[in-house]
Amino acid sequence: MIPITEYAGRDVAVYGLGRTGLSAAKALTAGGARVHAWDDGEAARDRAEAAGINVSDINKRDWQRFSALVLSPGIPYRFPQPHRLVRLAEMTGVPVVGDMELFARAVQTLPEKARPKIVGITGTNGKSTTTALIGHILKEAGRDARIGGNIGTGVLDMASLHANAVYVLELSSYQLDLCESLHCDVSVLLNISPDHLDRHGGMEGYIEAKKRIFLNQRSRDVAVVGIDDAVTQSIAMGRSRPGEARVVPISSEFGLAGGVSAVDGHLFDSTGGQAIRVGDLAEAESLPGRHNYQNAAAAYATCQALGVAPGRIMAGLRSFGGLPHRMERVGEIDGVRFINDSKATNAQAAEQALKTWPKVHWIAGGMPKAEGIEPLAPLFDRIAGAYLIGESQDAFAKTLGPDLPVTKCGTLEAATQAAFDAAKASGEPNPIVLLSPACASFDQYKDFEARGDAFRAIVKRLAERTSAPAAEAV
Ligand code: ADP
Repeated sequence: MIPITEYAGRDVAVYGLGRTGLSAAKALTAGGARVHAWDDGEAARDRAEAAGINVSDINKRDWQRFSALVLSPGIPYRFPQPHRLVRLAEMTGVPVVGDMELFARAVQTLPEKARPKIVGITGTNGKSTTTALIGHILKEAGRDARIGGNIGTGVLDMASLHANAVYVLELSSYQLDLCESLHCDVSVLLNISPDHLDRHGGMEGYIEAKKRIFLNQRSRDVAVVGIDDAVTQSIAMGRSRPGEARVVPISSEFGLAGGVSAVDGHLFDSTGGQAIRVGDLAEAESLPGRHNYQNAAAAYATCQALGVAPGRIMAGLRSFGGLPHRMERVGEIDGVRFINDSKATNAQAAEQALKTWPKVHWIAGGMPKAEGIEPLAPLFDRIAGAYLIGESQDAFAKTLGPDLPVTKCGTLEAATQAAFDAAKASGEPNPIVLLSPACASFDQYKDFEARGDAFRAIVKRLAERTSAPAAEAV
């Protein structure tokens, strides 16, 4: 834990007691603050109380005495409209901060030499994969790398600050909105496409939030920026003023002069002027597809900026095991491969998975996003068959049209069985059954993890059932 001493002896309100709120409440308490923590949910309050946190209803307290409101990133700060407690804080002159801001200020209080290195990663898609990948490469290269933030461990729950440590932090746009002191030695902005627009008052607000990752960077710092979409491309081009961080552009679509590219998996480093071929990402088995090449290029540029030798970075890319629920191979039965991409909760993410194989037996559906699967139309010819589940199945069947083999299966269990039967009968050499739903999971599951876990369990049962007669025959 990283104790926060900034508010020692003072009263601080903490609102929202999920993973990060709880860790903030603990860190503030450990640092000597009088914490008043609240969550509208009873279960969250009980958990906080069990963890020794002072739970008290901040709706009923005198706000003049609070020195800060620590807001959970999940709670609306500005849009669609500020939460009632945010308004109250503003009316009573109480500053609103997030856990990442508390962390950033704790780092700033250290003498320059004692500060750890900080790598911040943001973007619409690929944050978790890239964060885990950078952490893995650094660890394999013998660095004291710590991974957290929006992934896994909340930032204030991470191991205590240390000069030689590298904090590799996944940053969501919500966290960035609540943070102004963070200084990243290396910042990574992967890509930007419309997402969470309701929480940022539109696309402009979303882009502004993402750009906050560059706040406080200086000329000796590095900004790794993807240039494969129009928005990040213009951000990369606009950031070369004196005093700003050195921009390292990355791409999985173009060869670059002065950046890192991974076109068709061929990793090239031209940051030193000349293009040097670093390796072939086909050897990085857990990073298939062009989107992962973008993540790999970002990880390469970051680790290179931190002084890791190209050969060691390549070794780390090769040995990376991947993250669960992101194009995760969860089984192979009779030559049919099962891929769990449950994290693909929107069309952009599912697009990456569909692009990876020439033909797939695609399981999709759930609680649809506004754009549905219309943006995937150019990839429909890769769908050998679609097996639809959840709330969206009628709408998706309509979008897919009458010419594709579409089966409305309702449940994941039925869809997996149907996709397996069709894949086996297809005669393709290594058929792929892909769960990449392009939908949120909440109509049928608690979250995307529960959906992916269910898929893994279904595949396991299918494997057991399939191998049983064979075993008897032997
Ligand atoms: P995030 O943490 O930003 O949500 P993840 O690494 O968890 O990103 O990946 C989420 C989904 O997005 C995965 O299903 C994956 O297929 C897709 N994805 C991963 N990296 C990228 C990328 N660089 N560009 C577009 N989509 C990606």
